[in-house]
Amino acid sequence: MSFPYRKASSYFREKFGARVYRVAVDAGFTCPNRDGTLARSGCIFCDEEGSRATYVNPHVSIKEQVLDGIEKLKRSYKAEKFIVYFQSYSNTYASVDKLHKIYHEGLSAHPDIIGISVSTRPDLLGEEVLDLLAEIRNNYFVMLEIGVQSFNYRSLIKSRRFHTVADTIDAILRAKKRNLNVVAHIILGLFDEIEPEAIDGGRILSVMGVDGVKIHHLYVIKGTDLEILYKRGRIKVYENPEDFARLVVRFLENLRPDMVIHRVQGFASTERLVAPLWSSDKHIIARLVESIMKEKGTYQGKLYRYRV
Ligand code: SF4
Repeated sequence: MSFPYRKASSYFREKFGARVYRVAVDAGFTCPNRDGTLARSGCIFCDEEGSRATYVNPHVSIKEQVLDGIEKLKRSYKAEKFIVYFQSYSNTYASVDKLHKIYHEGLSAHPDIIGISVSTRPDLLGEEVLDLLAEIRNNYFVMLEIGVQSFNYRSLIKSRRFHTVADTIDAILRAKKRNLNVVAHIILGLFDEIEPEAIDGGRILSVMGVDGVKIHHLYVIKGTDLEILYKRGRIKVYENPEDFARLVVRFLENLRPDMVIHRVQGFASTERLVAPLWSSDKHIIARLVESIMKEKGTYQGKLYRYRV
């Protein structure tokens, strides 16, 4: 049996014929959920430190960050081609002129760069921003990473997201209208989301034509509001990695077979982590998912039955 789900590394190799890696940069963006436009405290699970790759130095220019990242990725992983990953905070939160300048600074930093990946909130994708990304897509690979998190409205409220489910659907459909490669970030089983809803979230993303998913789990970091809630027993996390892996398997079985799976869990270092403790093992869920799927003889899309 071939690999039971479509891994991003295989997708990139098929598409570009090379070992493609994302080189993360911090372009100095903030976020409406932090600068007071919507709120100041941020989403309850926002891991400011963890959302930035450890090798990123936000105090130097984008070009320097890219060159430094490329050197490290070439040395450590024999990476051949690169996608500049605008990762930290909301990377469409600026005027279109400024975004144009920032994205092109990344794209022109090194000849082995083949595109950009832009991570943002669904309510920060106006028509002009999507047009800009579509224009860049004429010459480069463009991946748009949208923080969906959940289709459960109560979970969005508890998370202090300050955007609606309709904002998410609207952003995805308008991005797909421009044929952009859309990757949805999703936190399976977030707060009030029951497992059938989490699985249905994957079906919804599938029928909307989303190209890939980054699956996360909820984890608790020291010194956060989430830690207080966790210690008071007000929130649940998946304490047992097998339980989360089984949910991921069911999610994958119900996903469109061609969707690309960019990750299957989040990560937090031991020093900062409260729960679940397995979050400090970057690959535990991938190992469990692969073994459960092989044992069950199941695969991505096995239960997918929509035809849109
Ligand atoms: S929208 Fe993103 S960057 Fe802003 S607070 Fe939430 S998770 Fe953090």
